[in-house]
Amino acid sequence: MKIEGDWLNGAVQQVFGLLESGDHRVFAVGGCVRNSLMGVPVNDIDLATDALPEQVVTLGQAAGLKVVPTGIEHGTVTVVVDGQGFEVTTFRHDVETDGRRAVVAFSDNIETDAKRRDFTVNALYADRTGEIFDPLGGLADIPERRIRFIDDAEARIREDGLRILRFFRFYAAYGNPEAGLDADGLSACASNLAMLDDLSAERIGAEVRKLLGVSDPAPAVSSMETSGVLAQIMPGAVAGPLAPLVHTENGRQSRWIRRLAVIGGRAVSDRLRLSKQEMKALDAIAVILEDGLNPKLAAYRFEADRAVDAELIKRSMSGMIADDQIEQLADKGAALEMPVKAKMVMKHVSPGPELGALLKRLEDEWIASDFKLTKAELLEIAAR
Ligand code: ATP
Ligand code: MG
Repeated sequence: MKIEGDWLNGAVQQVFGLLESGDHRVFAVGGCVRNSLMGVPVNDIDLATDALPEQVVTLGQAAGLKVVPTGIEHGTVTVVVDGQGFEVTTFRHDVETDGRRAVVAFSDNIETDAKRRDFTVNALYADRTGEIFDPLGGLADIPERRIRFIDDAEARIREDGLRILRFFRFYAAYGNPEAGLDADGLSACASNLAMLDDLSAERIGAEVRKLLGVSDPAPAVSSMETSGVLAQIMPGAVAGPLAPLVHTENGRQSRWIRRLAVIGGRAVSDRLRLSKQEMKALDAIAVILEDGLNPKLAAYRFEADRAVDAELIKRSMSGMIADDQIEQLADKGAALEMPVKAKMVMKHVSPGPELGALLKRLEDEWIASDFKLTKAELLEIAAR
């Protein structure tokens, strides 16, 4: 069986050629193969090879390519062709795992390499012609869109607790919503919740961002709640408001921070290692909702995206579908600029708190007029 795809005919061919010229075996693996088979766009291309990392570096450099030792101790080297990075990882198997990180040994065997992966659909390989190699029988799960752990779910989870979150994420992104989650996988997740406690906030945060960014994460997050996974990683978070929000979004480009705003949770900033900017966005959404700001005013105060986020959340509470008027209003609001600046009213008051108070009063009047008062009208008010 063969796959086709523009990605396979592009710059990656140079990387295939490079390694094959050194008499090595090399395959595309994981997401790119899975997505091609499922008819989903391919985002990044990972390669697996029997060449040792140093050999990949040497061959890449000899070909005049930029080579970055991204994770060389795990066998991963990034080879850059025409500005596009390809992660090339030496076939390996895990010698020892503590649930977070693994001690790896390199191998020249595609089957042992496949076995250290998480799900059957992620253990499919393709050579440079697109010919599929399926050492573990994952191909059969593709048309069913079945996300299931390789061999024993429990054993896979004990090797790396992050796989619990990946299980829900891959189901949300690629699974068959009619079939539901794989029962063995789900029960193994539910009975190994403590594996989640050892994960770093960075790894959890990265997974949660990806999960909440899929087009409809609601069923997966709901199962995470029922199985205890959600409370374990985000105490206080709730799945309930997510499905109405996705409904109200009505096919809009998904935005994970908006989804996070409705599921909530205590200390999410620490739990997910949010950046200052992400925290600011969450806070803005909360203030807009609390103060009941309309999209135009919300966008003027904060930014258009936050105004849209908050308005969608608000409407989802009453089950409304949202038209694109929200975006139009938010764009208008974001473009507004207070017509009167400090230097224009300085002659009326002394600089300092008094000036600040006057400007604030003028802005309030301007907002109350739905931004209709002109500069002249505002200056007249200032002169009173
Ligand atoms: P996407 O890019 O859509 O998120 P992907 O399958 O490419 O999906 P990555 O996280 O980029 O996901 O990982 C690439 C491959 O590496 C996976 O397909 C899987 O085979 C393997 N892999 C990654 N993380 C793990 C893990 N924690 N445990 C086992 N295998 C993993
Ligand atoms: Mg990937």
